[in-house]
Amino acid sequence: MLVYEYKVDGNHKQYAAIDEVSRVVQFIRNKCVRLWMDGKRVSHNDLQTYCAVLAKVYPFASRLNSQARQASADRAWFAISRFYENCKEKKPGKKGYPKFQHNNRSVEYKQTGWQLDDDGKHITFTDGCGLGRLRLVGNKKQHIETFPVKAIKRVRIIRRADGYYVQFAVKTERSVSHVSSGKEIGIDVGLKAFLTDSQGNTVENPRHYRKAEKKLKRLGRRLSRKQKRSSNRKKARKALAKQHLKVQRQREDFARKTASALVSSHDLIAYEHLHIRNMVRNRKLAKSIHDAGWGIFLHWLAYYGTVHAIQILAVPPHFTSQQCSECDTIVKKSLSVRTHVCPRCGLVMDRDQNAAKNILEKALSSHRGCTGGHSETGGLAP
Ligand SMILES: [Zn+2]
Repeated sequence: MLVYEYKVDGNHKQYAAIDEVSRVVQFIRNKCVRLWMDGKRVSHNDLQTYCAVLAKVYPFASRLNSQARQASADRAWFAISRFYENCKEKKPGKKGYPKFQHNNRSVEYKQTGWQLDDDGKHITFTDGCGLGRLRLVGNKKQHIETFPVKAIKRVRIIRRADGYYVQFAVKTERSVSHVSSGKEIGIDVGLKAFLTDSQGNTVENPRHYRKAEKKLKRLGRRLSRKQKRSSNRKKARKALAKQHLKVQRQREDFARKTASALVSSHDLIAYEHLHIRNMVRNRKLAKSIHDAGWGIFLHWLAYYGTVHAIQILAVPPHFTSQQCSECDTIVKKSLSVRTHVCPRCGLVMDRDQNAAKNILEKALSSHRGCTGGHSETGGLAP
């Protein structure tokens, strides 16, 4: 799936209508969750049927396109099935018991209830919710109108801190002819750099990470100083939300570009399957922004790996930083030790590069033997 995003240019009445539809979606989702809580053995199918019941009882629900109604029920089912899965896997800690949603900011249409102009510059929502015709403002390079309408599987409207957006999810068989370089690398999360590869190359953390984090902190402090329910507080909250959005976009942009560059210049990439959530908890290990960036980076790595049809392999994290990449001796070292020095074979190497070499080696050996590490080249949508 490709996702094309446009900013919406509409009037106040239309924006109010979008907010209203978001509330209807939330209402349906919460009603479905309530049905599941109250009843026993409610299936996905039951929720779909329940949508029609809700539409009969509540006029505002009946005005929403029927597929969009079902998509709202799907959200409830998503929360319910995730809970079931966590229970089945006996995941430690909280299982994520479905909650009622209070601040929904999006609406999802499927293949009906909207119509795109031939030039791709306007979209009209045709159900009874009063959204009408909206102008789409987007990147000049993206042309949603070039895709057959049938290929557009979802249209999602989202409210963000700086306005309203429409996203189109397009099903395409996107692929590029990969120019083979014969190069295979392992990569490791750097403690100082963003990543270090098995050749010793590093990709530095973008400078804006640190700056953005400082600004987030400052805006957060400012918000906490404002009086509750005051207009100044409202302003401060908005400023903070905007800064979060900015950071999120910068992070996404950096991750996408880095992943794209890496994939197009290699034939195989191996990385360590880290548990990002555990990393975030460990404040000393890395900055939270960096951790979030790594997760998004891996997502794009998988995406470009699919597009280029190259292998992206994940290896389980065992001793990759402790083992000597030359002679396999385990050399214990704390996080503060930056250099790997092997007492047995005399190898002296940057700690992260040594780890990256181990990661590549592990991926290649398990790949050849077809055991252990698992491929992550799935059809991931960004
Ligand atoms: Zn050694």
